[in-house]
Amino acid sequence: MKWSQTLIPTLREAPADAEIASHKLLLRAGLIRKLAGGVYTFLPLGLRALHKVEQIVREEMDRAGALEMLMPALQPPEIWQQSGRYETAGNVLFKLKDNGNREWVLSPTAEEVITTTAASEINSYRQLPKTFYQISVKFRDEIRPRFGLMRAREFIMKDAYSFDVSDEAAQVCYLKMYDAYARIFARCGLKAFPVEADTGVIGGKFSHEFMVPAETGENEVVYCEACSYAANIEKATSGIPKTAAREIGAALEKFATPGVFTIEALSKEPFSVAANRQIKTLVYIADSKPVIVLIRGDDQLNEAKIAGIIGTTILRAATAEEIFAAMGAHPGSLGAVASTLESQQKDPIRRFAESLRDAPKIYADERLRGANGMTTGANEDGFHFHNVSIERDIQVTQWFDLRTVTAGEPCVKCGKPLKIRRAIEVGHVFKLGTKYSEKLGSTFLAEDGQRRPCIMGCYGIGVTRTLQAVIEQSNDTNGIIWPVSVAPYTVCITPLNVAPEGAVMKLAEKIYADLAAQGVDVILDDRDDRPGVKFKDSELVGFPIRIGIGEKSLAKGEVELKPRAGAMIPVKPDEVVERVVQLIKDSTPAGK
Ligand code: ATP
Ligand code: MG
Repeated sequence: MKWSQTLIPTLREAPADAEIASHKLLLRAGLIRKLAGGVYTFLPLGLRALHKVEQIVREEMDRAGALEMLMPALQPPEIWQQSGRYETAGNVLFKLKDNGNREWVLSPTAEEVITTTAASEINSYRQLPKTFYQISVKFRDEIRPRFGLMRAREFIMKDAYSFDVSDEAAQVCYLKMYDAYARIFARCGLKAFPVEADTGVIGGKFSHEFMVPAETGENEVVYCEACSYAANIEKATSGIPKTAAREIGAALEKFATPGVFTIEALSKEPFSVAANRQIKTLVYIADSKPVIVLIRGDDQLNEAKIAGIIGTTILRAATAEEIFAAMGAHPGSLGAVASTLESQQKDPIRRFAESLRDAPKIYADERLRGANGMTTGANEDGFHFHNVSIERDIQVTQWFDLRTVTAGEPCVKCGKPLKIRRAIEVGHVFKLGTKYSEKLGSTFLAEDGQRRPCIMGCYGIGVTRTLQAVIEQSNDTNGIIWPVSVAPYTVCITPLNVAPEGAVMKLAEKIYADLAAQGVDVILDDRDDRPGVKFKDSELVGFPIRIGIGEKSLAKGEVELKPRAGAMIPVKPDEVVERVVQLIKDSTPAGK
């Protein structure tokens, strides 16, 4: 490609709304342009890089035996109602109406479509296992689209779905996809590592996210350098000790705490109750019902864990009014001591309150199990209880690990201190089980003649997010540093004099033709511009290799070979093609 014939609108400055390095560079290097918030056009150079990522994904999916398909982005809402996600995924679903006033949904992912397809096309164990994938545009009504392609409203995702006859077979498939993901990210030049991820409503241990470490990432990852433990903070646990037990004995003692509404205030004079001796009482609304969550005063609740336990994605903190209706007291004085909750339920005004038809469930954090001598709210504004023995005084419905891990806590596997860092989620592998196959009727006739639901898995890669993650991980003050595998062009030839009949341009044209003949993706910067401008642009766009050709060096019998991230190498003109081909070979990860 000749530079003058394509469109590479580089910018000196990034628009003000670009906050992170990769977003700025995507714009400055002329790869994408914003049409609206979270909606982008890929310009020619950006599209070339995107196609390269897509091709790597495609090759590895094919290698793993997955079958490429293409499913519609425009989907009827009925299948979403059937799976139950019309409600639960409602906040990200784009919905629209056609001219006949019929509603449609724009695909944020495609479990519903693939399962419906499998329901009609897969009927026997003889057709299994099968894994299908597609690389296609997805739509999500993100509350806060930001960081360019990282969190967009419209983006490209590779989504794959596996169908198996048994749990064991599904696990084999899961591991195959897991390996394919490791290969994909390595081939994209990305340092991505797998972490245990929240399995939410499904449960089980087969869910991993592939994370790219980055300060600008929206996820927090808990990891141990001494062993292999790594988990999304939403899922992470630690080996932190339980609350120390005290002598059981003293009965509950109510005391006045006027004006004290926080853990911190209660920990100060005149009460001086250490945060780790307090029970924090939180009220959430899950699927429109209140639930009570107990956690130690010095711990933070992990909302993803409680949502997973309850099995809902619709979870929110209760409002002060809802709390008062359910508990009879305001935040700051809440507690779950059985006698106080019972008296609330007996209260004739509250007895009929909608929220109290069933007593709210009480979920408590494992760290509180067996704790006594604790302090908690008395469920009466301005009062607390001392001497709370949790198992004696509170009717906990169920105990779970509910707290958020903090850095330095002992690793759950090896006891060494845990670390936390930020990361970008580029991919997710997930064993779904029979959630969708049961709801959407994807069953097969097993060898024993029984009809059973398929065991499914789903596997996503944010293709456009991966492309941007490559840039976020690999750049310097001058611009992008593309790995060869996904660079829009591998080589940029920069003649410093573009007079058509001159020796410089003639050599440039020859090297260009020779490299192209070797299958190298090459661009020739034939613009009649100052060398400084051309060099700057090639650094900004970040082509892995530049060949500078000028009269001065040519007089010495040399051209200048400049790897983007390395030092200049003077090379004889007739050796340059060979050297470039070797450089490309050396920088391509093994296995491809
Ligand atoms: P996130 O937690 O970042 O919102 P998610 O868990 O909702 O992502 P999945 O449903 O697992 O995402 O989708 C698979 C992949 O699609 C993700 O790993 C991510 O790389 C990508 N992805 C998800 N949402 C977006 C988005 N709004 N813009 C770009 N890529 C996205
Ligand atoms: Mg995810």
